[in-house]
Amino acid sequence: MSRIHLMNILVTGGGRGIGRAAALLGGARGWSVGVNYVRDATAAAQTVEDVRKAGGRSMKLKYDTTREDDVKDMFGAHESYFGTLSGIVINAGITAESMPLAEFTTERLKRVLDTNILGTYLCAREASRRLQKSDKHNRSIVFVSSVASKLGSPNEYVDYAGSKGAIDSLTIGLSKELGPKGIRVNCVRPGIIRTDIHEHSGDPDRADRLGNMSPLGRPGEASEVGEAIVWLLSSQASYVTGGLLDVAGGR
Ligand code: NAP
Repeated sequence: MSRIHLMNILVTGGGRGIGRAAALLGGARGWSVGVNYVRDATAAAQTVEDVRKAGGRSMKLKYDTTREDDVKDMFGAHESYFGTLSGIVINAGITAESMPLAEFTTERLKRVLDTNILGTYLCAREASRRLQKSDKHNRSIVFVSSVASKLGSPNEYVDYAGSKGAIDSLTIGLSKELGPKGIRVNCVRPGIIRTDIHEHSGDPDRADRLGNMSPLGRPGEASEVGEAIVWLLSSQASYVTGGLLDVAGGR
């Protein structure tokens, strides 16, 4: 039987939405939680305050995950404040306006792929370097992918769907690289979750409209994804690696 370990984690895109929910649930377990964000300092400060109220330690970390130097500095700042890392939620991601591929600009493609693929790989590379040196007993990476990776998101954002397919592949490959070193790697694949991401992609009603058509008949809440994330991070999931866990209401 596994023992419960207090974790020291970093959550990319932790100020709002799914990342914020995971941060709060980590705080409620007494974990130390670095809250990364790139623009919304007010939301990140609120999340830090709420993690502390929930029982954890927290600080905000303003770094752009698409920039190599920022990623290194973010891990360095986190470690100086909290000590050796034991887990990470690689969650920062964006969508773009719904349209068929034929109408995409190159600028849009670069923005989505840079944030969702390059940023994710840069964070995963730095995490895998640091976790291999960490003396923590339970070491774990959780990616936030999407069921878009298997649905394809036609006429909405096939670039986003493809970027999540890359994260699924990274989960499988990295879990095989790091398993022999005792580090677990998993991802969650949310469905339609009520967060700001839909509004930011120009379709604020998307969560209710499409969520209501899912088998469970409603959109999901960020906390429902957060629960899956903290479980995968924790020592309670000690024999789970290489897993792609759908949190999608049957979608
Ligand atoms: P959200 O509410 O829009 O939050 C996105 C977070 O990512 C924000 O904290 C944002 O920072 C951060 N971020 C974006 N670009 C960044 C960058 N370059 N560097 C650092 N942080 C960055 O979105 P969400 O719905 O919670 O989405 C979180 C993850 O879940 C994404 O990977 C998304 O693809 C995935 N997902 C969401 C859904 C859904 O229906 N909501 C479904 C499937 C998968 P700021 O606060 O500073 O802007």
